[in-house]
Amino acid sequence: MTDKTAVLAALAKVTMPDGKTSLAGSGALSEIVIHQGKAYFSISVPASAVAASEPLRKAAEIAAKGVEGIASALVTLTAEKAPQPAATQKPAAAPAGVKTAVEGVRHIIAVASGKGGVGKSTTSCNLALSFAAMGLKVGVLDADIYGPSMPKLFAIHGRPTLAGGRVLNPMEGYGVKVMSIGFLVDEEAAMIWRGPMVISAIQQMLREVAWGELDILVVDMPPGTGDAQLTMAQNVPLAGAVIVSTPQDLALIDARRGVAMFRKVEVPILGVVENMSTFICPSCGTRHDIFGHGGAMAEAERIGVPFLGEIPLAMTIREKSDAGLPVVVSEPEGPHAKAYRAIAEKVWSTLASGGVRKAGPRIAFD
Ligand code: ADP
Repeated sequence: MTDKTAVLAALAKVTMPDGKTSLAGSGALSEIVIHQGKAYFSISVPASAVAASEPLRKAAEIAAKGVEGIASALVTLTAEKAPQPAATQKPAAAPAGVKTAVEGVRHIIAVASGKGGVGKSTTSCNLALSFAAMGLKVGVLDADIYGPSMPKLFAIHGRPTLAGGRVLNPMEGYGVKVMSIGFLVDEEAAMIWRGPMVISAIQQMLREVAWGELDILVVDMPPGTGDAQLTMAQNVPLAGAVIVSTPQDLALIDARRGVAMFRKVEVPILGVVENMSTFICPSCGTRHDIFGHGGAMAEAERIGVPFLGEIPLAMTIREKSDAGLPVVVSEPEGPHAKAYRAIAEKVWSTLASGGVRKAGPRIAFD
């Protein structure tokens, strides 16, 4: 966050071709993404001015590289038919609240988190595999466009084939159908996409993929609660959302923001999963509550959402994930697989019984 602010401050000193406006305040700047010391962003310019804007691009690159902690910068120019005033930067790909069902797909659920790195993708993958273990037909849509993890988690390589027209066949891993932006474009390309591009890519992965008949499609949401997430929550026909949180985040604000976001667009909250809960030392068997413990259950109750269960902080979960052998398939009888399956069973029983009961106080956190 601090890095982003510093880059933004540096870009405030870059002047637009009009000689007056600063790049930072021009409305032409995309979101700034910083990953491993590299800054990524794009500048939108009128289609007719792309060539003439090269000096601006270069100046922005130099300014970003001048920021402490930023080793390099990848700045691209994106062509817009008309210049974008700052006020229209918000994604507005589809009219709010348009939720056309996806043919053949019975239930779509979102797995979301208030911020990155809490284990949302690991949870999405293991829940999907748990649904499959229950005999359900399952798909996973990796909408975490800035950090797609499903190709690695499911150990899927290669590219999807065309089913006909614009429609792609999903890939498959451990009996689950998977579509991810990671199969289609380089990671660096997606990172600099602006909000509307992200939303249209996700809509395509939802509607232009031959999912076939599915009992459940698990959508691994982009982390956070920004405009892209909100628009998605509004436009994807979600049966409900699972919020993943570490114990300390739920007590803080991030996960609650996630809950508030879905409530705002009337997507039911299926419940909260506390990830990276207790750590049992593999050598001495002692229990350590590294991120605190039990906070999620109390907090879930307080904000009126179901508590789905906790997943311990376990080395095997990370190691197996990195190896493309998620614990639900590689250690199906182990305690971690059981924990994921118990959560999946709770979610499925809610969906199968017709959805989430409408209860609980409505609390605004914004
Ligand atoms: P997110 O999708 O929220 O960014 P990931 O699912 O990619 O998070 O997880 C971040 C890292 O934490 C990964 O290296 C993953 O293997 C690890 N991880 C996730 N859940 C656990 C857990 N319960 N125990 C140990 N490591 C975990």
